[in-house]
Amino acid sequence: MVKYVREREEREFERAHRDAERIDKRDRVILKNEEERSVFEEVFDRRTLMTLYALANKGAFSYLNGVVSSGKEARVYWGVTNQKTDLAVKIYLTSSSDFKKRSQYILGDPRFNRFSSDSRSVAELWARKEFTNLQQAFDAGVRVPRPEAFLGNVLVMEFIGEGGIPSPLLTNVKVSRKDYVSVVKAMNILYKKAELVHADLSEYNVFKLHEEIIIFDFGSAVSTKHPLAKQFLERDVQNINHFFEKKGIKVTPKEKILSQIAEQKREKSESYFDEQ
Ligand code: ATP
Ligand code: MN
Repeated sequence: MVKYVREREEREFERAHRDAERIDKRDRVILKNEEERSVFEEVFDRRTLMTLYALANKGAFSYLNGVVSSGKEARVYWGVTNQKTDLAVKIYLTSSSDFKKRSQYILGDPRFNRFSSDSRSVAELWARKEFTNLQQAFDAGVRVPRPEAFLGNVLVMEFIGEGGIPSPLLTNVKVSRKDYVSVVKAMNILYKKAELVHADLSEYNVFKLHEEIIIFDFGSAVSTKHPLAKQFLERDVQNINHFFEKKGIKVTPKEKILSQIAEQKREKSESYFDEQ
């Protein structure tokens, strides 16, 4: 698991911003056309723009190729590297950070016990939190978008999809019992190895790319030590069971899954998951 050295990180962050201030904007075309540029400037404040310049300057991406998704809290862009590799660049909006809604996913998580309530700090903490969560999940071997970089309120990760078009979500594809087992397995590894609960798991936050199940949108995920972790896990299992049941797939009772994931009956639960 990656350990964060806060002070060093903050110094690097400030330095990156100072570097960004020095970049001549005319030499750094990160948006391809005027239309994108004007939408961009309307939506993003100067500091977010500076953060993007700093990330581009560090080589995290070469340019942004347009919007993939405009949510209430975040916007996802299709980014491209110098080597023409696609990336997803998720920008948490500093204008709409819902402090109240988000605080329950932060307070109580021993990894994030400092919390400022101004909207920029919340957006930045959220980007940091999603990055850390993705890294923990990735390191534990759960199939998630590989985290690449983050700075301020911007998170850069592997693009799941092709040609700038995101992979379909579980909600949009034909699903099988095998997909169900993959999702439950992922929840189990996430809990036991990454020590995380997704806390916003549903058919809208799982990609199915060809036959692969990929879980994403990890901003809400909490440490298993969070006092509400079990409650969040229960809700995740409920959402997933409800979705697959609706699709006519045989599901394992919620209580059985919960006891296998969250209770320390290691040997038993491992053999259960191996059997599936
Ligand atoms: P929402 O409120 O719609 O759930 P969100 O702010 O929670 O949005 P995400 O769920 O992470 O953000 O992403 C929203 C959409 O952006 C996804 O449904 C998907 O289409 C696209 N997207 C997110 N991450 C990636 C990625 N790594 N690769 C490709 N597309 C992505
Ligand atoms: Mn989502």
